[in-house]
Amino acid sequence: MSQFHEALDATISHLEELKRAGVTHVPVRRETLDALGRPIAVAEPPVTQHAMRSTPPPVPAPRAEPLDMFAERIQVSGTTKTEKLASLRQQALACAKCKHLAASRTQVVFGVGDPEAELMFVGEAPGADEDAKGEPFVGRAGQLLTKIIETMGYKRSEIYIGNVLKCRPNMPAGESGNRQPTGDEMKTCLPWLQAQIDIIQPKVIVALGAVAMRGLMPEITTGITKLRGHWLLYRNIPLMPTYHPAYVLRAYTMQNRRAIWEDMLQVLEKLDRPITPKMRNYFKSE
Ligand code: URA
Repeated sequence: MSQFHEALDATISHLEELKRAGVTHVPVRRETLDALGRPIAVAEPPVTQHAMRSTPPPVPAPRAEPLDMFAERIQVSGTTKTEKLASLRQQALACAKCKHLAASRTQVVFGVGDPEAELMFVGEAPGADEDAKGEPFVGRAGQLLTKIIETMGYKRSEIYIGNVLKCRPNMPAGESGNRQPTGDEMKTCLPWLQAQIDIIQPKVIVALGAVAMRGLMPEITTGITKLRGHWLLYRNIPLMPTYHPAYVLRAYTMQNRRAIWEDMLQVLEKLDRPITPKMRNYFKSE
């Protein structure tokens, strides 16, 4: 098969894959479309010096456009991950797709951390503390998450933390506390998180709790107790489901603390990070 036909087959199968994933448009630059309308340089028999002089130079074959998984809905500018994430953030901060949440939120809680992070944690939605501060996981559950991250040997600033929902789920008038995001809210908001993941390309994602799992992978109906500790793939990235820190705080048993830590040890192994005997035996000695 010629190189041209190999490239054509690869392009067709990639487009079919995108279609199956629900993508209906792909961005193509004007010049690429123009180039497609011109004759393509295909492999030709070797030509003599004379023929080469009299033959016009072949039109370069059009280069394949990078096909952006999320560009159908969200276009970002910039070339570095930092620039792309900043462009995405600007757009997310102005999002009003969920009118009720746009009306009730103090601010959009986009995400925080290193755009080059190898590890990304995904929670469900901001609570009151996060809504006030504009940063995910800063309340009690956030403090436990930070402790877990540091015990793993990272600084909080070295990883990336985001939520499925970027706005705090509103509460009925006169009621305090938090509510879980609805399926519709998560579906509407998910493209922001998908775009964050596509830009950051972490080596591992940790999904915190059943709601984050439902938002990210609604097709998986197994409960978090069975799911946790087992690797899944999300957009080709290894994903570890584990308990939500708020759940561990509510049910602060040795069993739950050990479970979340054992999941984190698996994450460290996957990332080839150093694990000291102390880390390995963290809950075994208690
Ligand atoms: N719980 C979450 O899932 N996310 C936050 O940002 C805070 C608490």
